[in-house]
Amino acid sequence: MAKRPRNQVRLVKQRSEHPGVQPGECFVFDPHATAADRLWRLAENVPGMLYMYRLRADGTSHFPFTTSGIRDIYGVEPADVVEDAISVFDALHPDDIEEVGRTIIESAKMLKPWSHTYRVCHPNGSVIWVRGHAVPQRLDDGSTLWHGYIMDVTEAKDAEIALSQRERHLRAMFDAEPECVKVVSADGELMDMNAAGLAMLEVSTLHEAQSVPLFQFLPPEYHEGFLDAHRRALAGVPVSYEFEIVGLLGTRRWMDTRMVPLTLEDGGTSVLSITRDVTDQKTLQHELIMAARTDKLTGLCNRSLLVERLQRRLDASHSRSFALLFLDVDRFKLVNDSLGHGVGDQMLLEVATRLRRTVRSSDSITPHTAGNTVARLGGDEFVILLEDIASPDDAELVAARILESLRKPYMLAGHRIITDASIGIVLGNETYERAEEVIRDADTAMYEAKRTGRGRSVVFVPAMRDRIQWLVALEDELRLALDHQEFRVLYQPIVDLGSEKVCGYEALVRWIHPVHGVVSPADFIPIAEDTGLILPLGDFVFRQAAMDARRWSDEGVDAYVSVNLSPHQLMEPVWISRFEDHLAISGLSASRVLLEITETTVMHDFDRAVEILSHLRAIGFRIALDDFGTGYSSLAWLHRLPIDVLKFDRTFVSQMQGQVVTLIRGLVATAHDLGIQVIAEGIETEEQQSLLREVGCRTGQGYRFGRPQPADEIRPQRAAA
Ligand code: C2E
Ligand code: MG
Ligand code: MG
Repeated sequence: MAKRPRNQVRLVKQRSEHPGVQPGECFVFDPHATAADRLWRLAENVPGMLYMYRLRADGTSHFPFTTSGIRDIYGVEPADVVEDAISVFDALHPDDIEEVGRTIIESAKMLKPWSHTYRVCHPNGSVIWVRGHAVPQRLDDGSTLWHGYIMDVTEAKDAEIALSQRERHLRAMFDAEPECVKVVSADGELMDMNAAGLAMLEVSTLHEAQSVPLFQFLPPEYHEGFLDAHRRALAGVPVSYEFEIVGLLGTRRWMDTRMVPLTLEDGGTSVLSITRDVTDQKTLQHELIMAARTDKLTGLCNRSLLVERLQRRLDASHSRSFALLFLDVDRFKLVNDSLGHGVGDQMLLEVATRLRRTVRSSDSITPHTAGNTVARLGGDEFVILLEDIASPDDAELVAARILESLRKPYMLAGHRIITDASIGIVLGNETYERAEEVIRDADTAMYEAKRTGRGRSVVFVPAMRDRIQWLVALEDELRLALDHQEFRVLYQPIVDLGSEKVCGYEALVRWIHPVHGVVSPADFIPIAEDTGLILPLGDFVFRQAAMDARRWSDEGVDAYVSVNLSPHQLMEPVWISRFEDHLAISGLSASRVLLEITETTVMHDFDRAVEILSHLRAIGFRIALDDFGTGYSSLAWLHRLPIDVLKFDRTFVSQMQGQVVTLIRGLVATAHDLGIQVIAEGIETEEQQSLLREVGCRTGQGYRFGRPQPADEIRPQRAAA
């Protein structure tokens, strides 16, 4: 047994009065034992150690008294520390010594109880955690004496460390989770949220997230649904809910959340939710829906959505009427063929933008109509569904507005393109049951608009159906007509209005249809232009005209030949180069050929037209601008056009009276000033002839001088006169 400290001698003595009772022995109540004896036993049996520790004024310290528990705590004997506590300090964990010393000094200074938890390196090699508690008292000699106890708390501390480690692991997992994990109290307060969640809300700390009401991150349309889901989760039902959030920086995201109830320590319930960012998925979904319902190029509705909406409109009450406009961009094929598909696409995009703007359509892609609908059916065909049309005039007014907006020049890849559109209008009525019927009739009316001069709108009437059937059939037959050699070229004389001498012949094509007889070019040329058949057809006419002109020239007829060119032919360099081949084969000089082009051809792409016309003139051809007076009729750009002849349309001639006479006189003078010859078309009467001479026009063409006739009827002048 180790030596007892000096101030415990008395206790030891008293203890010796009860030999047989050893420290640490199980205490059996002995009514004869002294109080001191009982206390001693008690002290020795308390787990840990009881002690008195004294810090001398000179800074040294010692344990005047300790129970033998010091052996378990510090691995030293009570006697070892009676004079000097150094061996206890030696046993402290090196990382904790400083803090133990600091707290003791502080307790001494303030005379406040000392309480501290620290590690001890036990001589048996183990490291234990101990917790000490002692109350200081100042002695007369300036030293401080503490009465206290120290307990081994290794087990509790290990458990605590394990717990906090587990908590740290959980927190790390919580924060590493790519999905948003959050706990929301029953009354909607955000209690906890992981890093992913904070990032989704675009805040940097939980505190920042908590300082904003949760609903502020939710667009109003989701408030009710979210509340309902929260309530159901609180009631114990696991819920899934999809909603959108708007982060603090304004980013909108789609969320898919699953909420489960979470019981708190105080017995209350909160809601734990795990939320996935499904924005990418939603975007893809949206894109798929969009793709199925919208036109890829322009973003407008496609045919299927249009049909869906129109059908709904037909199925619903007919109390408010609607109109369907079928629009086709004139000469779009020309842009596509001559400038390439890229430029064609740009043009369609621009058309879509103008249409959208003009009819104020909504961009929604639901089957329910939210305002007017603009759809693209493909190619250059657009359909507009106008809601709430009070009268047929309204629909025509909108069509006029559309035509006006589409007529403005398009700047495409450096080209200034002017085009027009043809619109067919169907006014909704109770005879229609299927959407397709309405679209078909609007298409028919569009065809009629195209046929009767383009750049206009036509309202559908049932009689058009028969005609369209005829034209559709014609289209099929036209493809075979060239192979079957059903085309003939007739020649109409162009004469000097003074001498009535023929100076040229205009080549005018005819289709001799095996069933319908002679079909007018007014009927089949537009079809040929739309289908591209105009290119081989035009080539045939030019070749034929060149051969015929060469033949009649050989026979002594001194007259040039005038050939009409379609926009397509002019803009396709391949076909132009074939003209030279035909001239070479026929032996006709280019100067004997007048090429007629129309204003719309020129206006379509002015700069390019000027370039090509200059090239044609350089070869030796002469150029005429045909049908002057039916289109733009602008004198402003006439001087920039490399042309030799201006052909006044017969509508000018037929209306020649009053103001028109003055106008024609001015136009003729201007043309002559620019060195341009004028040919008046459609002269039928002597009066028209003399009036034209009177205003200065020297050349003309018309039934008065001769109808288009076969080439073999053309004889030398003297014979004709
Ligand atoms: P255009 O080039 O303006 O031809 C004149 C048209 O007016 C011709 O009609 C002609 O027969 C008609 N005409 C001539 N004199 C009179 C008259 O005194 N009174 C009336 N009422 N009409 C008269 P056509 O032959 O039916 O040709 C119509 C249009 O078809 C032509 O108008 C031209 O633009 C086009 N066309 C005809 N042949 C060809 C061709 O080979 N190629 C191309 N691209 N277009 C052609
Ligand atoms: Mg002509
Ligand atoms: Mg003409």
